[in-house]
Amino acid sequence: MVGWSLLAGAALLAAPKVTVEIDVNRSPSSAVWAAQAKALAEEWYPELADLLRQSGWTPPRRVTLRFEPMEGVAGTAGDVIHISEDWIRRRPDDWGMVIHELVHVVQAYRKPVPGWITEGIADGIRYGKFEPQRDSALHDPERSPYRDGYWSAGAFLTYLERLYDRRLFTRLNEVARRGEYSPEFWRRYGGRTLEQLWDEYRAWYRRKAEELGRQPRLSDLPSQR
Ligand SMILES: [Zn+2]
Repeated sequence: MVGWSLLAGAALLAAPKVTVEIDVNRSPSSAVWAAQAKALAEEWYPELADLLRQSGWTPPRRVTLRFEPMEGVAGTAGDVIHISEDWIRRRPDDWGMVIHELVHVVQAYRKPVPGWITEGIADGIRYGKFEPQRDSALHDPERSPYRDGYWSAGAFLTYLERLYDRRLFTRLNEVARRGEYSPEFWRRYGGRTLEQLWDEYRAWYRRKAEELGRQPRLSDLPSQR
């Protein structure tokens, strides 16, 4: 995390400031957690905005974290992140969830994008760049294909990023945000189709699991070029 922060540091100087507001009107008991989440968002939002930068485009400059009684964990609509008060009570260490939702604010997709890409980018950044120290286990691709989104897609994208393109998240986000994503995007990586790249990842996972005698983890992915 520290290394990545340093890398982003130079661009950070030019990054637009963000105003983070917290709204605990419907959940006053969330106030302490909310204040920590606000500090986290102020630190990380500029880095996420830099990672998903695109010339001629500025991400939202205001973000609201709204705490409330609600179903599920959290959800983002525009620049408002809704967070379940019950969830943070049960999982007070889930700061990665805030990062995941902040990515959605920065993505700001207005045109249709396959859900696995939207969620894969958010979880790839969350697990791979915000909390690499957790060294999360990689889902078995035979049981959980990339189309499941989230970390199943995020780990696959991180594998491709490490092997083929250190700017993959930036580039993929840009075509998605422009509404120009198509399966042709993947041809840039050795002329292969998405399914061929997926087969390659599945084969890598199988080999690695056999070699290690356990489920591969984030740190077992190929190292960055
Ligand atoms: Zn999401």
